[in-house]
Amino acid sequence: MERCLSKLNTLITSEQIETKIAELAARIREDYHDRNPVLVGVPKGSFVFLADIVRVLDIPLGIDFIGVSSYRGRMESSGEIELIQALRTPIAGRDVLVIEDIVDTGLSLNYVLNVLSQKTPASVKVCALLDKPSKRKITVPIDYSGFTVPDKFVVGYGLDFDEQYRYLSHICYLEEK
Ligand code: 5GP
Repeated sequence: MERCLSKLNTLITSEQIETKIAELAARIREDYHDRNPVLVGVPKGSFVFLADIVRVLDIPLGIDFIGVSSYRGRMESSGEIELIQALRTPIAGRDVLVIEDIVDTGLSLNYVLNVLSQKTPASVKVCALLDKPSKRKITVPIDYSGFTVPDKFVVGYGLDFDEQYRYLSHICYLEEK
């Protein structure tokens, strides 16, 4: 029988997200204001975070997306990562900042970093709004980290469960009813 997972519990409020984005943007602005970086979002989950942080950053930058898939609508990573959307911007010699929604096992980010490094960028760093270290399978660098979250399935602020809840302006965790 299907489990009912529709009980939402607030984990991070929209005010906390706003404050955190201002802090992260201040650090990134300091480091990148004169480097015209390319921000690489990893859809779909990062789209809200990316849209918010670029407007607070307010520095010259490029934007592109690299799509990878590992979940296919489930709550556990399949562990098999595949590229579903290639980067279009030439990044050789450019400073790249990967914008992630959440780092869980680290397998997706590790895959993305390998793909990007083959394109000989000047540098690659990572900004992740959420870090869920409890299920980490591989060590990955997170240079700008927002919140550390517990071992729960989180939704909202771009993150989904079966394409639901992305519209929430805050972050919740899902619980069995
Ligand atoms: P990883 O490869 O690090 O295990 O997972 C990375 C991707 O899995 C994230 O970009 C996100 O799309 C998805 N993911 C991991 N944990 C969660 C979670 O708690 N909630 C949601 N909605 N997605 C997650």
